[in-house]
This record gives sequence, C-alpha cells and structure tokens, in this order.
Amino acid sequence: MDKRDNREELNLEELRTETLVVHGDDWVTNDRTVAPAIYYTATFRAHNSSEFAEMAGTPRHARYYTRYGNPVHERVAKIMAELEGTETAMVTGSGMGAIATTILALVSAGDHVIAQTRHYMSTAKIMDEMLPRFGVEVTLVEQADINAFAEAIRPNTKLIMVETPANPTLVLTDLAAVAELARPHGIIVAADNTFASPINQRPHDLGVDIVIHSATKYLGGHHDLTAGVICTSEELAERIWHTHISIGSVLSPMDAWLLLRGLRTLPIRMERINANALALAEFLEQQPQVERVYYPGLPSHPQHELAKRQMRGFGAVIAFAIKGGYEETQRFVSALKLPPNAVSLGGVDSLVVHTAAMWEGVMTEEQMRTAGIPSNFVRFSVGIEHIDDLKADVWQALQVV
Ligand SMILES: *Cc1c(COP(=O)(O)O)cnc(C)c1O
Repeated sequence: MDKRDNREELNLEELRTETLVVHGDDWVTNDRTVAPAIYYTATFRAHNSSEFAEMAGTPRHARYYTRYGNPVHERVAKIMAELEGTETAMVTGSGMGAIATTILALVSAGDHVIAQTRHYMSTAKIMDEMLPRFGVEVTLVEQADINAFAEAIRPNTKLIMVETPANPTLVLTDLAAVAELARPHGIIVAADNTFASPINQRPHDLGVDIVIHSATKYLGGHHDLTAGVICTSEELAERIWHTHISIGSVLSPMDAWLLLRGLRTLPIRMERINANALALAEFLEQQPQVERVYYPGLPSHPQHELAKRQMRGFGAVIAFAIKGGYEETQRFVSALKLPPNAVSLGGVDSLVVHTAAMWEGVMTEEQMRTAGIPSNFVRFSVGIEHIDDLKADVWQALQVV
C-alpha cells in the first residue's frame, strides 16, 4: 500500500479544525507535491474524444475549463465545505461574485425576496436596484426583529438573505429562528457569514441552506486577494454553478492558491483576532473620549445573549463612536500610527476607517442617517499584532481628540 492509499483512508469527519485546514484537501489531486501545485491553465486536455465528451457534460468538472472549475478551486472548496459543515462548496472571483451569482441563480421574475435593512453596500444595491429591474419584489426587514421576518413571508417568497453581524453597529440576526421560519414554506435561506468566519459561526448547523463568504476577508487573511465562497448542498451548488458559468466570476488559480495558503492558518489567526478584538473593545469602553462601543462580545451589546448562543468568537470588527463629531473623529483616525486607513477587514494587519468619510461620496446625509451612520463612527478591524501595541496606539490617538 502506498502513501496515497493511507491518505484516502483519512476520515475527515474525525479531524479537528486545525488539522482539517492543513490536510483536508490532500486527497484532491494526485500530485506528489507537498505544497499544492498551481494549475495555471485556462483549459485541460482530454485523452481522447470520448473522455472529452464526458468532461464537457459533467457539471462542476475540475479539469475541463477554468471558468467551470480548476483543481486549486477544488482544494479550497473541499476545506470550506468541511469548515462550514456543508455537502460541498464552490469558489468565485469575489464575495460579490458569490452573492450576485447565488441570488440570480435562485430567483425569477414574480418571485419575492426577504432581506435586511442593513447589508453590505453592494448586496443592498442588488436588493434595492437590481432585483426590482428584473421583476423580483424585495422586502427589507429589521434584522434584530424575528417577527418582521415572519410577517414578510408571502406565498411567492423564494429566498431569505441574511447577514450577521452586519455593519455599521454589528447587529445580529437570529439564524436558527430565521431558518425555522423558512423551513415549512420551503424558502431557501442564504447567510453572508463574512463578518463571523466559519471559526466563529456555522450557519448551516443552525439550519441555513447556503453560507456565503467574501474570502477577501478572514479566509484569505492577508489583504492580497479577492475571492468568494458558496457553501451548500450538492443540489443547490449545481443549480448555482449553471448560473456561475454564465456570469463568469472566476477565481484565478493563483488567487485560489493564495487563498488556500491563507486557510492553513485561519484557526490560529482567528484565535488571536478574537482575543485581541475583545481586549481592545473592553479597553475602548473605558476611555473617556469614547462615547459608545459596539462589539457582540461585550455584555453592553444589545444582543450579547444571542451572540453567545450562535457564535464561538466575536471577530475582528469593532465599531465605536468618538465623543464629538466629524472633526474629532477625523483627528483620531489620522493620529493612529499602526492601522492603515483602509477598507476591508479580517486580515493580519489592523485596518481603520472613519465610517462617515467612507460613505460621504456615495450617500447623502439623509441616507446616512437612515442607515444609522453617525458622523463620529469608527470601524476598526483588529489584526494579529500584539495587543499592547494596539492599545498604546489607540490611547495616544485618543489624546489628540
Ligand atoms: C467585503 C464583503 C462583501 C463583498 O466581498 P468582495 O470580496 O469585496 O466582493 C460581501 N459581504 C460582506 C459582509 C463583506 O464584508
């Protein structure tokens, strides 16, 4: 028996997360490389025309044409399906690629979709602007109010889209409660799990059908790639894949390889990120220049009990309000020395944004007020730096406010 056979006997179900992210994809290719090979090719040759016919006719084939699939995609998907506890997974070129493809695959003119009043901005645009153009009705509900979901259900409701925690104040959606509401009606529930990561929250365990990630964030973890992942059943993945090959949100084999490298360290990065962010959130709460801190791991978060029930850690993102207005907040953000002033989250380096400054160009003041974005909000994505250095930097920046 050669080593290959030993590997095939690995029971992935028995492996712990830290081991899975390192070995869960070993069996996928027959390469004898230790580091995964990059299949840097757009197309794959068949041995003969009957094999070609078989390749062309097999949905989600990993060695036919890279828009359809690629062995590096397959490795990432294998690990992601294990991490989220779903039958299978597929990768896309960005988080929005994953979200848009999923929604467009599942709804048609005349259908109804329920989504949240707060979503990642580009998801909100799909709900507000794109779906109505195609004759799909959308009802937006307050995500913290489970009755609002119940009341929004109609006979033609096909999909409920949720996102938890959600910007800007890290409001949560009760995933188990939404899934339970949807089940008797046969409504598909999709959750954007980007802000939590599969280490901190597993929506499928709570009854959610489709779990979506912007892998640009924690999964890649180094702010160097964009990618998306869709984790679901074989049946739904095949449906979504047929739309995926038409939309063409393809992940390059190189970026898939970088994502795979990122996944190897996801559990240990999350351990540090969760600990750092909780410590920094507690520190911020004690500072006189800080008006309020929003973090699901703090007892002061209005949904802390739900957070403890459905999450195992609370993630990198802390939102907080500086005492004062736009000017004071700009001064604070500009005085920080460690975190770059940049969008995105979940990487090894901390990042900071003045939320109102980010939306200024895109939203009117009125829209910002309805979206609950006051002028003194800061979003801090905590990285894996030493917590004492982060605290010291935040402290010195608060002194100039
Ligand atoms: C970043 C993000 C997205 C979009 O992902 P991209 O990889 O940038 O396309 C979607 N949802 C959430 C919650 C995000 O943070």
